[in-house]
Amino acid sequence: MSSIEQTTAPTGRDRTGGSDRSPLLEVRNLHVEFRTREGVAKAVNGVDYSVRAGETLAILGESGSGKSVSSQAVMGILDSPPGQVTQGEILFQGRDLLKVSEDQRRQIRGAKMAMIFQDALSALNPVLTVGYQLGEMFRVHQGASRRDAKAKAVELMDRVRIPAARDRVNDYPHQFSGGMRQRIMIAMALALEPDLIIADEPTTALDVTVQAQVMDLLADLQREYHMGLILITHDLGVVADVADKIAVMYAGRIVETSPVHELYQRPAHPYTKGLLRSIPRLDQKGRELYAIKGLPPSLLRIPPGCAFHPRCPQAREVCTAQEPPLYPVTEPDGTPLAGRGSACHFWEETLHG
Ligand code: SF4
Repeated sequence: MSSIEQTTAPTGRDRTGGSDRSPLLEVRNLHVEFRTREGVAKAVNGVDYSVRAGETLAILGESGSGKSVSSQAVMGILDSPPGQVTQGEILFQGRDLLKVSEDQRRQIRGAKMAMIFQDALSALNPVLTVGYQLGEMFRVHQGASRRDAKAKAVELMDRVRIPAARDRVNDYPHQFSGGMRQRIMIAMALALEPDLIIADEPTTALDVTVQAQVMDLLADLQREYHMGLILITHDLGVVADVADKIAVMYAGRIVETSPVHELYQRPAHPYTKGLLRSIPRLDQKGRELYAIKGLPPSLLRIPPGCAFHPRCPQAREVCTAQEPPLYPVTEPDGTPLAGRGSACHFWEETLHG
């Protein structure tokens, strides 16, 4: 097992519950299973990562890779049953969230951690104004009066750059565009100034220009509030300018960890290499887009050895039998590359070959 090392040195107020250098969140050897009629689906199989205040971790993977399930476990919103954390620790500001009461968990979830979901339209209540929904956070958690709650709602809408916030505070969700609705979701997440935000595919439903605006906004606010941010995505294209470090997931495991820019320049796992090759590039117009062959495995039947072997162009016999650990990645002369790991028996070939 290996966790991702810090790659940036954030400054600002301490949100870790200890030293600003200690992790805000540390996930250790997390396992999550879903018991279904067809069998046990092993959705997360021994995942480790950490996030510090002011740092952004992107968790990348195709659907079914375990990226969203591991974050739901952190938030304590797993669909349970059938979902169940079977092993591991989730240390938030030094406290194991798997050992606190449901009441304490709820309090932490409200005030210290918040989640931004992909589909703002279904996350917002269609029959209540956005001002009411934003204000509710202050009424419920801080006992604010209706008037004060509304004033705070306007302030938040300003913060997330919704034009004419004062005039729009009494509008309903359907009266906003997709991008503006996602800003409202961000405002809701920010309302109580949490220490950690988990954004699960926050821009997937938006067109490319709006995607970039929402990501920029999220990055600006994260810096301003000095929060930890976990960005879950299937799209390598959206994280390059926002994340500090990245964890690539496949079949419930982290298969590569890296500071974000190094991963783009020198991937150390064939799966990441394939994902990078499949990003459309303007300078390669007219060329057929690369696609990794095959589909991710069913979590009910994860292949033995390296789970990626049926799709891997570099697979050899050993890959079908031996599961690779997350090897520390080094330069050819053995110099360690900070924060880098690859769960591939032949990572050197991929990185240096
Ligand atoms: Fe491919 Fe083998 Fe590496 Fe897995 S361990 S990624 S199958 S080369």
